[in-house]
Parts: sequence; C-alpha cells; structure tokens
Amino acid sequence: MEKELGNEFFRGVGGIRGRTSDRCASSGVHVCKTDICDGARRDPEPIFLWTGAGRRPYTRRIDGRGGRARPPRPAGMRGPAEHLRHLVPGGAAVSALRKAGPQRGTAGGRSRDSRPVRHQAEHRLPLRPLNRAVLLAAALTALACRATAADRYNVLLVSLDSVRQDFVGCYGHRPRRAPDVPTTPEIDRLAALGARMEDAYASSSWTLPSHVSLLTGEPEVVHGVDTDQQTLDASVPTLAEILKYHGYRTAGVFSGPYLEPHWGFGRGFDRYRAAYGRKVAAASRLAERLRAQGPSPGSRLSAFRVYEKVKNLSHRDVNSSEVTAATLAELDDLRATGEPWFLFVHYFDAHYDYVPPPPYDARFDPDYRGTITAEDFLANPRISVPDPATPDGFIRRVSDRDLDHLIALYEGEIAWVDAHVGEVVRRLDALDLARRTLVIVVSDHGDEFFEHGGLGHHRTLYEEVVKVPLVLRLPGVLPAGAAVPGPVALSDVVPTVLDVLGIDAPPGLTSTSFLALIRGGARDGTAIARLVTQHTGRVTIDGTTVVPATQVTVQEAFRREAIKLTRARTWPEFPPDLPARSAAILRPETEAQHAREQLSWIDVARYPGEPDDARSSEFADPRARAALESVRGLYRRLLLPRRTPGTARPGEAVRRALDGLGYVDTGAGAALPASRFALPPPGDGR
Ligand SMILES: [Zn+2]
Repeated sequence: MEKELGNEFFRGVGGIRGRTSDRCASSGVHVCKTDICDGARRDPEPIFLWTGAGRRPYTRRIDGRGGRARPPRPAGMRGPAEHLRHLVPGGAAVSALRKAGPQRGTAGGRSRDSRPVRHQAEHRLPLRPLNRAVLLAAALTALACRATAADRYNVLLVSLDSVRQDFVGCYGHRPRRAPDVPTTPEIDRLAALGARMEDAYASSSWTLPSHVSLLTGEPEVVHGVDTDQQTLDASVPTLAEILKYHGYRTAGVFSGPYLEPHWGFGRGFDRYRAAYGRKVAAASRLAERLRAQGPSPGSRLSAFRVYEKVKNLSHRDVNSSEVTAATLAELDDLRATGEPWFLFVHYFDAHYDYVPPPPYDARFDPDYRGTITAEDFLANPRISVPDPATPDGFIRRVSDRDLDHLIALYEGEIAWVDAHVGEVVRRLDALDLARRTLVIVVSDHGDEFFEHGGLGHHRTLYEEVVKVPLVLRLPGVLPAGAAVPGPVALSDVVPTVLDVLGIDAPPGLTSTSFLALIRGGARDGTAIARLVTQHTGRVTIDGTTVVPATQVTVQEAFRREAIKLTRARTWPEFPPDLPARSAAILRPETEAQHAREQLSWIDVARYPGEPDDARSSEFADPRARAALESVRGLYRRLLLPRRTPGTARPGEAVRRALDGLGYVDTGAGAALPASRFALPPPGDGR
C-alpha cells in the first residue's frame, strides 16, 4: 500500500513515494500507532510514516498553522569488599583505587581521582566492560559520608507508574463524578506530614528513561537511555550501588516490564525481584528462558511472541497485592538486619489498561450506566482510531460522558494503588521506623485524556504527562505540610536523598539536591524532560528504488521558573549503505530536516493547561530570552558527560525474531547509534 509523500521536505525530490509502516523501530515490534513505551498494540492497521497525498503535510503541522508555532508534539568509604569484587573481577584494581582514593570527608567528593571518569566521558571513548567497571568503582571510591552509622536513615522510595500530578488529592484533585471522594488519602496524609514538591517533573513521558533518571540522578540527555534498545552505561553508579557501598542493605520490588533488570535496574540491589501477577510472571520467566537459549530460529520466534505477551498482559495485570506482599516481606527482612536499608518499590497498576478491582471500579463514577471500558485502552475503536495524518495521532471517538467514565476508572486505579502505599507506610510506622526512614512517593509520568488531542503517554511532553507528584516525609528533618514551589526533576531525587543521608554525591553528578528548597531556601533549578520516538517506513525514489527509513523525533522540555521551553527536531534516518545515487538525493534532505528546530515557550504558571494559543516562538519577552540563555548554557554543560548507553538484550532478541519472520527491512529496524540522538543546545543559530 503506497501513498504519495506529502512531506514538504521531500517535494522537489520528484518521484519519492512513501509507504505505510507497520511497526516501530524503538521496540521493533509495535504498530506505529502504538504506545511504544509499554507495548499496547493497536490493530495492525496501516499507519502512514508521512502523510498521504500531500493534503496535510505532517511537518507543516508541526511548524504550526497561520504563523504560530505548534507545540512540539511528536514535545564515606566503607564499601563492602564483596560488592567491589562484583564490580571488578579479582578486585585488584579496586584495591589500588581504594588506596589512592579520597578518605572520609573529602569536600564534595570531587577528588583528582574522579577526573578520569569525566575525562573519559567527555571524549566518548569506547570503553571495554572492565574499564567501565573500574570507572564505576572509581566513582564510588570517591564518595564520602558525613554521617555516622548511628544516625543513618533508611530510605523507602515508592514509584507509582503513570500517576499524573493533578489527579492526586493533595495537589488539588477532585474527581469530576465523585468530588467528595478522595483519590489518594494515603499520599495526602504523607504530604501533610512531609513536603510536597509543587513543580515536580518527570524526566521523560515513559517508564524506562524516567526510572533511569530517578535511580541514577542524571537527566536523559546525560544518561542517554533514549530508547528501549539501550541500557544504562555500566560506569554510572545507581542509588542502590551508592547506598550499598555505604553499608546499606538494598532491596527492590517492581511490577512493570520496563523495570526488568536487563536495562540496568538490578544493579546494587541485594535482592531485586518482580511482583507480577501469576500469568505475567509465568510469561516473563518463559521469555527470559527463551532469550537465554540463543539464536535458533524457533527459539527466537517464541521469545518474540512471549515477550509481546508479557508486555500486553502487563497492562491487564492487577498486581499491587503481590507488590505489597513482597514489599512487606522485604521490610521485615531489612529491619531484622539492624543495618540501614534502602527499599525501592514500583507499583504498575495505575498504568493503562484501567481495570481497577472492586470497589474501585465504581467508586468514582457510581451512576454510570454505559458500557465503555478501558480495556485495550489505546486500541479500542470506541475510544479512538488512529489518525492517518500523524504517526502517533489519535482521532477521538469517545463521548464526553464515556470519557468521564474512563477517567473515573483511572482514578480508581490510582486509589487502589494509594491504598497499597498506605498499607506499606502503616507497617513502617508500626515497626517504629517512621522517624528513621525517609519516605518518598513519586511517579514516572502521567497520561493524556485528549487534553491536546492524544491518549496515553510516550507521545508528547505536555504538562499532563510530565508533571508528577513528589512527596517526601521524614519527621523531625523535613517540615510537615510544606508545599514547595520551584521546578525539580526526577533526576534530582538521588542527590536529595544523599543530601538527607549526609553522603556526598558521586563526582560529576549533574543534578542537584532540592533539600535546601524544602527548608525554605532558594535553588537555581531547571527541570528537563526528553522524549525520543522512532517510526519506521519506506521511501520510494522515482517509483523504482525502495529505501527503508526511520523517522526520528527528539522532543525536549525545560522548565525554568515560570517558563517552559520546548524544542523538537524530526528527521529521517536511512541505512548507511545506500546506493550512491539514492544517498545523493536523500542526504541533503536529511540534513536540512535535522537542522530544522521548532522552539517555543509558554508561561505555565499562568497557563497550567498549556493551551496552544498561549505558546510563542518569539523570544522578545525578557523572561523567555533569559530562560533560553540559561537553558542553552546548562545544555552545553550536560552534553559533555553524555553517556554511551549499552545495547538492550530484549530489543535485540525481538529484532532478531522479527528478522526471522521477514518483517524487518535491512537497516530500518537496526538500532541507531546513541550519538544520532544527541542534539546541540536549543536555539543554536538564533
Ligand atoms: Zn511508566
């Protein structure tokens, strides 16, 4: 099925035709219309990579209509020796590093010994695994601890998947169909006893990069895990590794596929386990076994199918009870050690599909008599159908009344998860650990409900998908009931935790603590969110030469004071081994598109709903100009330590499986080098 390209950038390159795409390069398996992040699969309807018949050029839509820019949418040195031996085989290199490293109290942890870490990163040298391990060991060795064992606090970090900030009671939410019923009484109680960050931003609008930021303290532009084909650079210390190095017991419980350990999340945990429901758990174990079996065609095919099953089942999986049971068991075990501990918990249930168990399924819309459900949320034609004009667009079909019900089901899932958070916190308090434990509750992103024409997440960086709840409680240390303004990011959580614990941050960490902000001080902060999406397709030149293509879109948002800057670039990538004639035609277009940037700003304090007509691409306003200048400087500094992520095994397995099925064209499905997603600072050339 071929369509003539309507992409204005390809006009004048006569005869180029585009074809529909049936999967997404980010994961290699999904229909383009799919939410790539979490694998909800749409019906395999053809989706246009570029718009059809030249009616509504896709790129023109991005540029804006009537001259107005459209918002970017595509938008203490006591490390356990056994841990170090794990990091560096043999431990000899670490011994040397430990002798050479700074001792307790090193100011800021920024020793000469840490410089090789930065030096290597700046030049992006290819590092062998051993070298990466040595760098990680060096980073940990440079840490210093200001606290004594007796006054070290425990840390309970709870991540609630897909909970947007404005659906949380303490942030002002009142359910539309049940305004007197709170969605989050437990989180509200925590906030009343602690601090609530009013302007907390996720580091991306999907699970993987946001959690990498949450657990490493680096924004996505630095950690570089832009797609699920990439894994965390082994030389980046995680919060669990840092705390383990300082003698903490560490445990993690997760319940969504993108928290699986092969992306690097298991590092530093004494125990890191999944708490899926029964069906997903069985499918996950089978997928892992098949992946481990190697490259026989039969096993590849099975691994692909099972991996898909894990992701799709996970949307319907209701597993908060399993998460809570595992968490309470860990809590008991950790307390019994008598040592300080770090417990990370991830609740996945608020993620679509919205299928809360009774009584939460009716709690927020008790009078509903219709038939809409949120099962198969992104692919339900009663809710929306794919928009052929955009690779990830939706055409709304659902009525206002039915949409209210879908939102009530989302509220039900949030309330269900909130009840589980309450159960964990009550156990903590019953164990008399409240005053000894820093409790943090946060989310990784929100969801859209057609506020800007879309659904779900992993599409844009609008406020509804990047503004998240962030609540911290530590009686006697953090003020009770504080509502703290000022932009903070998920990546700021690690330095803040370390600040509270009195542990120096690893050298070169680019994010900063917001503890002083909570205590009433000032902080010069910018929250950064980033989203990289890819869609595969084909370009036909002169009706004869078919070339596979990947359309890459990088969106970034920068919140500084009241100003939110957004920028986006979209360009096609082609295989490196194109015939010379094809390359000569396509390369100039590729470069021209890559260089074109949509840059705009909005005062989100004044316009929290982010209406498109309040956005401007003019920077005459001194506040916007100052924000842009500041962000440009910050971005330039962040590019220096940008990491080179590893390659994700599951993505590779899936790609191989698809290849075996004949689905992947040469080049189009291959992972692009991480360096291709690196952009210059926003506004370059302005
Ligand atoms: Zn998520």
